[in-house]
Amino acid sequence: MTTEQRPPSVDLVIRRVTVLAGTRRPVAAYPDLPVDDPGRPEPVDFLHDHAIGVVGADIAWIKPDGEVSTADLETARVIDAPGRIAMPGMINTHSHSSMTYFRGSAEDVPTASWFNDHIWPMEVNLTERDVSLGARLAVAEMLLAGVTTVADHYFSMEQIAAAIDEGGMRAVLAETFFSSQGAAGLDRSAAFAAEWNGRADGRITTMLGPHAVYTVDDADLVRTADTARSIGVRSHVHASETMHQTESSLARRGVTPIQVLHDTGMLDAGALIAHGTGIVESDLAWLTPYSDRVGVACCAKVYQKHTHTTTPIRLLHDAGITVGIGTDGCASHNTLDMFESVRTMALVQKSDARDATWMPSSHSLDLLTRQSAAAIGREHDLGALRPGFKADIVLIDPRKPHLQPMNDLAAALVLSVRSSDVETVIVDGRVVVDGGRLVGVDLDPLMVEMNERLPGLTDRSHGTTIQTYAP
Ligand SMILES: [Zn+2]
Repeated sequence: MTTEQRPPSVDLVIRRVTVLAGTRRPVAAYPDLPVDDPGRPEPVDFLHDHAIGVVGADIAWIKPDGEVSTADLETARVIDAPGRIAMPGMINTHSHSSMTYFRGSAEDVPTASWFNDHIWPMEVNLTERDVSLGARLAVAEMLLAGVTTVADHYFSMEQIAAAIDEGGMRAVLAETFFSSQGAAGLDRSAAFAAEWNGRADGRITTMLGPHAVYTVDDADLVRTADTARSIGVRSHVHASETMHQTESSLARRGVTPIQVLHDTGMLDAGALIAHGTGIVESDLAWLTPYSDRVGVACCAKVYQKHTHTTTPIRLLHDAGITVGIGTDGCASHNTLDMFESVRTMALVQKSDARDATWMPSSHSLDLLTRQSAAAIGREHDLGALRPGFKADIVLIDPRKPHLQPMNDLAAALVLSVRSSDVETVIVDGRVVVDGGRLVGVDLDPLMVEMNERLPGLTDRSHGTTIQTYAP
């Protein structure tokens, strides 16, 4: 063998793990299939006692541990993790990271009051320093919980980008804007998207960030779609967040928010739609032609808390529309814990459908991994552990009373696991959480400074606001 033909030396080998290699998309209408029907989905591939080889930022191979050779181990760091479960790093498809600052600050109020009396008046006080501190705390919280990628939507996005870069995380970032900011809002969002796309060794990619269909007018949405096409990015936008928004849009202008996204070219240009709990059956006609570039982020705990209906996943699933899992910001979700989010999603789906066979854990895992990757346009290299995919890997320690005995791995990962069971986290081939601790990060000074600044940030006595919620 010549030097040119030698495979590249392996940098990292994870040994003796059970690999959640990937999922296959469940077939439509499967609840009606008997359990032993060959068409019924068993879409999770678990590989027992396997090893994962990483070269640089990518997975090079996955094979039975017994086939690992001495040559494989020559130059590699070895993580020997017998019995641990290796799963793809989780992708939070909708968040506002810096809102960790507002965790618990607007509780037990209806949606309009949440925005108008609490969040938007507090956001008047936000400084770039606050955004930076909030994002750094969010990065810590997410990495410790096995979340390796976040689709983020907020202000002062350079500060969040710096926190992502510093923390070694992956993100797709969108600078939020409203039409009330004039042309400068979109211009700033576009400048950020163009400048940061592909930065941090490719760990940061971007989208445009129109806030919502009710805060960005049609003319600006048309400009957004045109700008997105010219930069080569998609847009991340709140739309049909509640059924009330859909009904109000129909009453005022005779179209749903999803049709507005269609008519303004936003779907054609590619869109990550946050929430979509107000998506109705007639919206499928607008969405399905763009199913290769449109995804919906479901943040189920938030809908329960704010007493909204939930994302109509069954409707979207049967129409072939991708649905990913997200948390939304901590002001509404209280945590950035994706296990909590997927569990709530699964339970609400069953309860709403009054069908215990709908949304089995294998399907929930598909939403959590592969569909969340597709929702951000990364189905080709994220959301599964396969050769050629990015080495974003989470190791779960199953030696816990609440996970034993292990009858059903998929059910354990959806219904029993806790984020504190995450032992090791690897992003882009680099270990960022080791033994349940962030590598090289002391969170104490960060939390002290955040708490010192908190009274100024949550002060609402100025009587002003950044926006008014009246969809
Ligand atoms: Zn949101």
